[in-house]
Order: sequence, then structure tokens, then C-alpha cells
Amino acid sequence: MDFQLQDKRALVTGSTAGIGFAIAKVLAQERAIIAVNGRSAKRVEEAIAAIRRDVPDAKLTAVAADLSTAAGMDSLVRAIPEADILVNNVGIYDTKAFFDISDAEWLRFFETNVMSGVRLSRAYLPGMLQRNWGRIVFISSESAINIPVEMIHYGMTKTAQLAVSRGLAEMTAGTGVTVNSVLPGPTRTEGVEGYVTGMAQSQGKTTAEVEQEFFERIRPASLLRRFAEPDEVAAMVAYVCSSRASATNGAALRVDGGVVRSVI
Ligand code: NAP
Repeated sequence: MDFQLQDKRALVTGSTAGIGFAIAKVLAQERAIIAVNGRSAKRVEEAIAAIRRDVPDAKLTAVAADLSTAAGMDSLVRAIPEADILVNNVGIYDTKAFFDISDAEWLRFFETNVMSGVRLSRAYLPGMLQRNWGRIVFISSESAINIPVEMIHYGMTKTAQLAVSRGLAEMTAGTGVTVNSVLPGPTRTEGVEGYVTGMAQSQGKTTAEVEQEFFERIRPASLLRRFAEPDEVAAMVAYVCSSRASATNGAALRVDGGVVRSVI
């Protein structure tokens, strides 16, 4: 199926690693023009080189910017003034007991995970509406629905993304613009590898043991029974960004390995 993405201008936030990197790569394979983002120029250049190894004629732009602040956001929008596709992927996560999460930490999570998407949608949605074509995708999480007790602050941001996404979709009624959320389940990324390694070290276990226990005890509802690969999430995102997905709007699309036990 041709996704009809040739020369669409796409910005994928947090795309030097993990799910964002996989999304940038698959959109490059679909011949879109991708702005690759991370906090440092070095990591962005490394990601661009890695995409080029797979897609030699990829059209890629580097845009290093820290999206946890309004200033970082402003510099990104100055560098990339227009986009046809915005994938709000950047997101931080960390396990912390509720009583140990400070006010500053709550606000840091909200600023990075929610306000980045809010600010970028404010910057790019008007142009999309004017051109009568656009795609905004929020990378939320199954944690938006199954709020993890070990990271309630993270769950809060992921649920908030669903609210923002659905609200923005209401603004697109009758246009060629869509706004959707994608909800990955546990996915094998740099961030998750760090989490598993940290748990293994602190508990004196192997990473394989920690992974097995994760699906037995922490996510027993998983039907996939393994971490998804970033490419498996990126495939859904590529579809929802495509012209083929024109009738999918305001939706929360799960790539969660069946962790959420609901049929809608
Ligand atoms: P990851 O492996 O930790 O990668 C994070 C990416 O974001 C990197 O490219 C990093 O780039 C960038 N980044 C971090 N802070 C940034 C900032 N302040 N400004 C700009 N870029 C920043 O993450 P991931 O696991 O792929 O997760 C991506 C998204 O998927 C997140 O929204 C997460 O909530 C969601 N998700 C993940 C999972 C999972 O199991 N992995 C499950 C459900 C949902 P640099 O380090 O180069 O700056």
C-alpha cells in the first residue's frame, strides 16, 4: 500500500532513539521529509547517520532542541516553521513512589510530556488547517488507562495527552486534518533497557529474569508476553500519518500487546 507521504514535512520529537527513532525511520522509508529531534546536536547527527544507513536517500533535517522548556520549543519552531505531520513522541518516565514525587517533579513531567505537544500543536495546527491537510499524533501509552502505581505522575501525563488529542481533533471537523493518539504497551527502547538493567542490578537478578517477572507480575494482562519492538509501534504511527488514514480522527489507537483489557 502506498501511504502517499512523499515530500510531506514531518517533525518527530525525541527521535534520536527508541520509538521516535523508529517512527522517523519508517516515515523516511515512505519518502517524507523528516526533522529529527533530540537534545544534543551529536545525538541528532548520529540518528540521522543511522537512518541513512537503512534509507540512503532519506530527506532529513537536524533540529537539536530541549523540549522540556518553552525556550527550547521556540528555538525548534524557529528552525522548523511549518510541518504537515507532527508526531509528539518526546516523553520521560521513571518509577517513583507517590510520596516521593515532589511538586517540581510533577511539573517537570507535565511540562515535557504534555506541554511539548500542546505548544507544538499551537504552532503547527493553524498551517495544517489552512492547507486543509495535516496529521498530529500524540504518543501516549497504555499507562494512560492502566495508571501504574509506581509512576502515577507519568500516567497523569499520558491521560492528559488523550484529552488534548481528542480536544484538538474536535477543531478539525470537516477538514483534511486529523489528530489521534497511539498507545504503545511496554516497548524495548533505550529508556526501557535502562529501567530493566537498573532493576536487575538493584535486585541481583539477570535482565532476562527481570523481564520475565515484569510480564508475570507487573503487566500480567499482556497478551504479547514480551516487549514490543519500536518498529511494531512505528508501523501503526506511519499508517495513521498516511493519507490512507483519512477517516481515523480523534481516536486512541492501541499498540499495547493486549495489556489493556477492554474491547474499545
Ligand atoms: P526513550 O528510549 O527514552 O527515548 C527518548 C527520546 O526522547 C530520545 O530520542 C531523547 O533524545 C528524547 N528526549 C528526551 N528528553 C528530551 C527533551 N527534553 N527534549 C528533546 N528530546 C528529548 O523513549 P521511548 O521509550 O522510545 O518513549 C518514547 C515515547 O513513547 C514516550 O512518550 C513514552 O512515554 C512513550 N511510551 C513508551 C513506552 C515504552 O515501553 N518504551 C510505552 C508506552 C509509551 P536525547 O536523549 O538524544 O535528547
